Amino acid sequence: MGGTFDPIHHGHLVAASEVQHWFGLDEVVFVPTGEPWQKTDREVTPAEDRYLMTVIATASNPVFSVSRVDIDRGGPTYTVDTLRDLRADRGEDTELFFITGADALEQILSWRDHDELFDLAHFVGCTRPGHDLSAVGLPDDKVTLVEVPALAISSSECRHRVTAGEPIWYLVPDGIVQYINKRGLYVGA
Ligand code: ATP
Ligand code: MG
Repeated sequence: MGGTFDPIHHGHLVAASEVQHWFGLDEVVFVPTGEPWQKTDREVTPAEDRYLMTVIATASNPVFSVSRVDIDRGGPTYTVDTLRDLRADRGEDTELFFITGADALEQILSWRDHDELFDLAHFVGCTRPGHDLSAVGLPDDKVTLVEVPALAISSSECRHRVTAGEPIWYLVPDGIVQYINKRGLYVGA
């Protein structure tokens, strides 16, 4: 599951957990982006903070892990590189599933090398409040749509709440609230 994770929240975790369960996945690898090329309109939190928050949020789940491939590669993150690197790391015969929310899936055809993407992984699109998954014209055999319990939580909303002095308790794991406070993230955004 790729993402900016700025910060990671319960919407990400529920989607990952549901897909892990329904597909019987051995592992869910969270991959925080390096430099997000689609989000140049705002300052993204340093990769190390986003990486650590992702580790904190996933640490208690034995089948969740975090990969640094996109951070360590440097430069803008392209999903095709993420999948190639994960495959090289986990073994060429590893079966990969790319977990994404409905909004990200809508953009998939604008991604670089999208034909190769479908050869590298099976795509799983999760429902997300406010986004309709039905009519995007994606290949049925390469993409599965999954209905996950709806959590209308976004990282943007969490950041705005912190900036406005509003609580984010229960939208994100407790350790993430504490990490954001400790590092003073999103305060002066
Ligand atoms: P931002 O508001 O900054 O865009 P975000 O909440 O969309 O942040 P991302 O890191 O951009 O979080 O998302 C990573 C992946 O998780 C994307 O595929 C996104 O669609 C999915 N996702 C995010 N929030 C949810 C949610 N509440 N339910 C289902 N999927 C989600
Ligand atoms: Mg997003």
